[in-house]
Amino acid sequence: MSFFDDALQEVCGVMDHAAQKTCEALENSKGHMERLRLRGALNDKYRELGKAQFLHTLGESDESEQIDTLIAELTELREAYVDICRMLNRGGGPTCEKCGKHNVQGNVYCSDCGAPMPREDA
Ligand SMILES: [Zn+2]
Repeated sequence: MSFFDDALQEVCGVMDHAAQKTCEALENSKGHMERLRLRGALNDKYRELGKAQFLHTLGESDESEQIDTLIAELTELREAYVDICRMLNRGGGPTCEKCGKHNVQGNVYCSDCGAPMPREDA
């Protein structure tokens, strides 16, 4: 094998590694976009639910069906949100089991929703 072949092979190795890193970064940023999209969708639904509950409580209209539908949609969205947070958080600090927020190591309570975090020594 000539010096040129060796050098070429090395360059190819470096390029493969770079391509893999780029690919990972791209996957990660797609994940972050999806996380933001889900978060926006969740907030919209929470707002709708708040309004439906408000009208219902006032007795201005019967919103119970709408409220059930919104709760079902919210449950699904929240599961998807927690999943994507877990996916983005591979190997990082703990993820809140209630809201999916990525917390720093050592948090006793979730920095987002305040739920108790699982004990790390458990
Ligand atoms: Zn939380």
